[in-house]
Amino acid sequence: MIGLFCFENFLMNSKGRKYLAGKIGADLDQIERINLKDDFTVKLKDGRISHIDLDDLGPIVRSECLACTDFSNNVADISVGGVGSSDGYTTVIVRNDAAQRLINQAISQGYIEEIERKGIIEKIEKMAERKRRRGRQVLADRKAAVTH
Ligand code: SF4
Repeated sequence: MIGLFCFENFLMNSKGRKYLAGKIGADLDQIERINLKDDFTVKLKDGRISHIDLDDLGPIVRSECLACTDFSNNVADISVGGVGSSDGYTTVIVRNDAAQRLINQAISQGYIEEIERKGIIEKIEKMAERKRRRGRQVLADRKAAVTH
């Protein structure tokens, strides 16, 4: 199983769309690309780039995502995502021998290229810890709200 890194997902109802449009200062149909790495990066069709801190997107994060504690898809054989990778590359976590054989085969057959970058694990751990902390706090708050 291949899983994605995931910090959160957003409510794209009319309120959510309006909120995000306000944050990027443009209509959403002007978005060319979105990248969620260390922050929420939006590239517009006119070339402008907006960086939005993840904390600023709190109002439109889905409720279930606020309570989620798994950043790197811990049960996947292979996890992939943008954190720590250069443009055009993807960070890959390989969790077992079968997955490693698959990756090795893809490299040897020229489908993917492997490069090494320093500090990637630290960045992933930082994001994972940030998400775990938020999820635990949200779950504790919800439990307290239910038991009162
Ligand atoms: S529930 Fe967790 S894994 Fe699923 S979209 Fe939300 S943050 Fe991501």
